[in-house]
Amino acid sequence: MTKTNPREFAGKVVLVTGGSRGIGRACCELLGRGGAHVAINYVSNEEAARETAKLVEAVGSRAQIVRADVSKSDQVASMVEAVRQDLGPVDLLVNNAGVFDFIPYDQTTLEVWQRALDTNLTSAYLTAWAVKDEMLVRGFGRIVNVASIAGLGPRANCMAYAASKAGMISFTKSLAEALAAENIRVNAVAPGLIETDIVADVDSQVLDNLAESTPMKRHGAASEIAEVVGFLLSERSSFMTGQTIVASGGRVMLP
Ligand code: NAP
Repeated sequence: MTKTNPREFAGKVVLVTGGSRGIGRACCELLGRGGAHVAINYVSNEEAARETAKLVEAVGSRAQIVRADVSKSDQVASMVEAVRQDLGPVDLLVNNAGVFDFIPYDQTTLEVWQRALDTNLTSAYLTAWAVKDEMLVRGFGRIVNVASIAGLGPRANCMAYAASKAGMISFTKSLAEALAAENIRVNAVAPGLIETDIVADVDSQVLDNLAESTPMKRHGAASEIAEVVGFLLSERSSFMTGQTIVASGGRVMLP
């Protein structure tokens, strides 16, 4: 059960990229429970997006599903326009859509590299640019970027992914500095291993070993990351911007 304050997002319009499944779906549900109107982005899995919309509507909030490949600027522009027309200008943005390749470093082809950078990082720039002008005009905006602990250290077996997430953490800081005086806060969450489809192809022994080497001896749940996202979008974090909160069961402990 969510710990979010009831109705703390009442009337706000939130766009969650990759809201159809996993962490994005958990964010949509939590924000809907908080009273937000929720735009659920997906790229290929319309059925999952519809399922998320049902969850949002079941807690009494409005939901819109919107297809866009967030690595493509024209599709991002159309998505934001569709949301503006249906729900209104975006107040809260969650840059969550992502892809993950767990492969030996020498299989990092240019195609793998570009897919990771475009989907996980360029997408955040594109969506932020598509919503920031209206946020500036209205003097209000909250952006949360879903990074990863992979962006905080070396990862030989997912180096493109790690580079994209390190970039996400850097972009969070730069954008936060640029917009801080305009009442637009930008923060990030860096999850450890969370049980979602994104790790479905990773060998189960590797996943077990990761859980064993985690101080809390388990993987996380999508809902536990959604709680952090909700906190960063809410006024409970009113003096925070440019920060990356690690939620990893203790796998990473920042100094
Ligand atoms: P997931 O269950 O596989 O969900 C991925 C989501 O991203 C889906 O909604 C998918 O849409 C969407 N997506 C993928 N490519 C897209 C594109 N080009 N345009 C628009 N949407 C796209 O994965 P997840 O674990 O929830 O991951 C969410 C975020 O958390 C990612 O950024 C990931 O890197 C990050 N993260 C995850 C973990 C973990 O262990 N799970 C750890 C750290 C960080 P469709 O349903 O249409 O395919």
